[in-house]
Amino acid sequence: MNTLLPTSIVGSLPKPSWLAQPEVLWSPWKLEGDALVEGKQDALRIAVQEQSRRGIDIVSDGEQTRQHFVTTFIEHLSGVDFENRQTVRIRDRYDASVPTVIGSVTRERPVFVDDAKFLRASTDRPIKWALPGPMTMVDTLYDAHYKSREKLALEFATILNQEAKELEAAGVDIIQFDEPSFNVFFDEVQDWGVAALERAAEGLRAETVVHICYGYGIKANTDWKATLGSQWRQYEESFPLLQRSSIDIVSLECQHSHVPMDLIEILRGKKIMLGAIDVADETIETPEEVADTLRKALEFVDADKLIPSTNCGMAPFPRDVAFEKLSALSAGTNILREELAVAQPSLVS
Ligand SMILES: [Zn+2]
Repeated sequence: MNTLLPTSIVGSLPKPSWLAQPEVLWSPWKLEGDALVEGKQDALRIAVQEQSRRGIDIVSDGEQTRQHFVTTFIEHLSGVDFENRQTVRIRDRYDASVPTVIGSVTRERPVFVDDAKFLRASTDRPIKWALPGPMTMVDTLYDAHYKSREKLALEFATILNQEAKELEAAGVDIIQFDEPSFNVFFDEVQDWGVAALERAAEGLRAETVVHICYGYGIKANTDWKATLGSQWRQYEESFPLLQRSSIDIVSLECQHSHVPMDLIEILRGKKIMLGAIDVADETIETPEEVADTLRKALEFVDADKLIPSTNCGMAPFPRDVAFEKLSALSAGTNILREELAVAQPSLVS
């Protein structure tokens, strides 16, 4: 891709009200059967169109095709019983009723490949597809079979790798793994988390992203964030490992964030998907605010490795807020592009 500072979104956009209840995370579908298939495709078309007209360069499906970023993928696997549920503590933060692993986990058919083909046919721009990371999948289940988080994670990594290779063959340019668990289980990240992630990304020609993140603005997350102090330095644990890993791009939140920007320096050499749009506040950023965040980041990342982005998904927002934030992201990015064209003309030639 030749665009300087190509813009992208981390994940979700709000769904239309005829597909799922708006402004609610993980809300169930309002349609079923063929109507649901058609409804998801129509929603995806709108997501693509809004990203394109508002200047987003790397287009994704806005997660219009899934209900939940982890469980929708797991639902398609065998070995997991969704009727047999156990209450477990997720991300060491909140209790949730989750499905149970009762046998060997396998992917008998592709999960998102048809949706990705539909996205590919809907735009000429580079496309990105998000999958859950292996550790986060493990942390969203009760395991009555493997009895080992590491073993189960490596099984999931193999399955994710199969899916990722088919997504790549369907024309996906960038494959993203969402691993919020990396901000919680530091010992496991070191012991097997990064290895499992690399296994999921093994042999891909598509670029790979890891999105770690402090989560949506839901109560369990905001309560947790309140315990983290004024500077969030959790990334100091995972970034050195990721810098040495085979993953190409690291995504992190920098707009109104307590994450010290200089932590990006640890990742020098990697591409950075930098959150310049707050997803916990409905106020639309001004282009100058976006530009200011990007400008500060350029102290720690080379301009040709910076991908302006959102902090996280925008599913809980009213649609007009999310769409206006896309416009703010590209307007702010344009300010920086013009500055760079003057300061470093070789970048844009
Ligand atoms: Zn996130």
